[in-house]
Amino acid sequence: MKTRKQLLTPDRLVRHVSDISPALLAEQFGVRAVICDLDNTLAEWHSEKIATEVAGWIAALKKTGIGVCIASNTRNLRRLERVAGAMEVLHVPGNAGKPGVSGLKHALSLLDAHPGEAAMVGDQLFTDIVAGNRLGLYTVLVNPLAPHEFFATKFISRNLERLILRGERARLR
Ligand SMILES: [Mg+2]
Repeated sequence: MKTRKQLLTPDRLVRHVSDISPALLAEQFGVRAVICDLDNTLAEWHSEKIATEVAGWIAALKKTGIGVCIASNTRNLRRLERVAGAMEVLHVPGNAGKPGVSGLKHALSLLDAHPGEAAMVGDQLFTDIVAGNRLGLYTVLVNPLAPHEFFATKFISRNLERLILRGERARLR
């Protein structure tokens, strides 16, 4: 069992998903499946636009033989389906319920992967990273793509994240 501190500690901090090398994930950490958050990790909140560098990263993961599945807590399931479809990646149908682990377990079954060969990538400590750590995945915290987000996230979670990470978020380039 992980302690509370370990649950709140990502294995890695990066600025952006494109800073995560698919080759390194595969070779150094034995990762062959990536579960990815959607909002402010792959796309801006409420947006369906996928930036070129995000699309390039997804393509590089696939080329490395790493499966990708989106696990999102969004309520807008149509948008989730459209974005996953456009990127040609799997998605957990419905709200993933992070920091609960049922959505991530569903993702692992879709990816046909065990926790030890999967990574969780997301921008939120209390949902993405906690859920990933609870299952023993390799966890990567990215900086949020944009300052626009759900008010409770913005005013509560982000301040608590700052306290826990103590300024250790990946530095802006
Ligand atoms: Mg997010």
